[in-house]
Amino acid sequence: MPRKFFVGGNWKCNGTQASIKELCNSLNKGDSVESSPVEVVCAPPAIYAQYAREHLRKDFQIGLQNCWIGKGGAYTGEIAADMIKDMNFHWVILGHSERRHIPELHESDDTIAKKVEYAQSVGLKVIACIGETLEEREAGRTQEVNERQLAAIAGKVKDWNGIVIAYEPVWAIGTGKVATPEQAQEVHSFLRTWLRNNVSAQVAENTRIIYGGSVNGKNCAELAKQSDIDGFLVGGASLKPEFLDIVGSFR
Ligand code: PEP
Repeated sequence: MPRKFFVGGNWKCNGTQASIKELCNSLNKGDSVESSPVEVVCAPPAIYAQYAREHLRKDFQIGLQNCWIGKGGAYTGEIAADMIKDMNFHWVILGHSERRHIPELHESDDTIAKKVEYAQSVGLKVIACIGETLEEREAGRTQEVNERQLAAIAGKVKDWNGIVIAYEPVWAIGTGKVATPEQAQEVHSFLRTWLRNNVSAQVAENTRIIYGGSVNGKNCAELAKQSDIDGFLVGGASLKPEFLDIVGSFR
């Protein structure tokens, strides 16, 4: 069975009730993807998740951008995976580069792996992000860094059907510097081979590996043609009507 194209919209820490309503209204204008081979998940800031669900078309799912490492309790300010599940949301983004690299957050491979494990244990599906920095790429460490980050996550995954891997080179996120289709394909192919060699041929074949980093309505079509690119995680352009063009790039 071919891998179903996947498009995630990461709204990050943006929005107000008014702007989210306006965004939903514009996204609601596109053709239904209900019976199309594409899955769409938009991730608003947690406080607006329910509000966004009330306003957004029903063929687009709502996910969260992060969760706590384990069960809830005395962790002021955190949101537990159980709560996300309890509110009937099914997806969470984990390991986003902003959570890995912003100094005040600085999540480690180990923290992210634990979050993935716990989120899966309560039945959430995970968009797990990995990717090298510019410094790492220029030092020729792209494969080593992506392998290390993927291995940490893979070691904790119980259900591969509930994981999407997002390859997001840090140098391409929010910078306007998109990876070329060849650069992205090279890493995606490396990751799929890693899954084949270290998990199983079936997991390698079935797992969706999506690309993120300055994807927009113009560059998505060429990226989508690459054999190992199964969709996108989109930041800036997910807040604009052109997100619909990115969703449509599965065609
Ligand atoms: C992201 O934040 O996951 C992302 C890919 O951002 P952008 O599309 O803005 O580069």
